[in-house]
Amino acid sequence: MAPSKTDLKRRAQKKADLEGTRVPTTKGGVPLKAPKEQIQCTSCKAMLEKRQVHQLKLHHEAKHDKLPFAQCFPGVEA
Ligand SMILES: [Zn+2]
Repeated sequence: MAPSKTDLKRRAQKKADLEGTRVPTTKGGVPLKAPKEQIQCTSCKAMLEKRQVHQLKLHHEAKHDKLPFAQCFPGVEA
């Protein structure tokens, strides 16, 4: 008898477990996405997504217009 799809899936998961390559999943088996890297505004402690430089700029312009951008988000290229 050929192994069912579920058997194959379990086997693959077990193999991944042993190899330490298993991707974390939800209860439904949907792979979880890596958490997005966040950066904290040093002025108001707001957490923003580091890759969304556009959002960081908007935040800076809207809230801390008088401060240099680098002071709010050190290390981020504006
Ligand atoms: Zn801020």
